[in-house]
Amino acid sequence: MHNLYEGIILRSTDYKDNDKILTLFTRTGKISLIAKSVKNGKRQNLLDIGNLISYNKVKTKGLDILTTVIIKNSFANIKETNSFYILFLLEVVLKIQRDSTDESLIYNTLIFCIKHLENTPKLYLCLFLEKMLYYEGVFIDLYICNICGEELSNTNKIIISSEGLSHLRCTNFSESNIDNTTIKLLKYLSMFDIDKNKVKFSIDDINLKEALFYLILFTENFFSSKIKSTVYLNI
Ligand SMILES: [Zn+2]
Repeated sequence: MHNLYEGIILRSTDYKDNDKILTLFTRTGKISLIAKSVKNGKRQNLLDIGNLISYNKVKTKGLDILTTVIIKNSFANIKETNSFYILFLLEVVLKIQRDSTDESLIYNTLIFCIKHLENTPKLYLCLFLEKMLYYEGVFIDLYICNICGEELSNTNKIIISSEGLSHLRCTNFSESNIDNTTIKLLKYLSMFDIDKNKVKFSIDDINLKEALFYLILFTENFFSSKIKSTVYLNI
């Protein structure tokens, strides 16, 4: 049997009477496929947004047509309680613009994070955003003040902005706007290797929300557009 492809369903749009156009994220980037006769058929549930599927396709002059579909993971237990976290991640992936043929780093990180959304979901949103920004070439220096160029120590009061981190004393601000524990979390996540580790970092929800808030800000700056599903995250 022909080797199947693998991908996660990002988006599903009605097409003609009974078909859908699916956008999938795969290790080789995003693709669109036509799924025939699925609006009422048995295959409908197979093709829910967020499902990780194995599939085959046939080439046509237009979009390729989806043939075999096997669910690898529907993340049903996560969708039950944390579906909006999945939707958030899928929205971010939909915004990635570049035409790369190798997206395996972002792909593997996405699957890893979705699988772990059950516990401390905000932590895995942070991990995904931080890794995604890094893979997209956005470098956030967490160690050096972007004004004086000297090291940021754990006891310094810090200011974070779209330019990066700086000492409070190097700015005109009167108060720090990020907690040092939050910076510790950002450092931890930047070093984190999804192939080797489990996240071992206990952190208060306040710091998680703060980290996520700034990572979303950096991400929205990078995409120059809002991530709409942020409203469901309560941050
Ligand atoms: Zn400084």
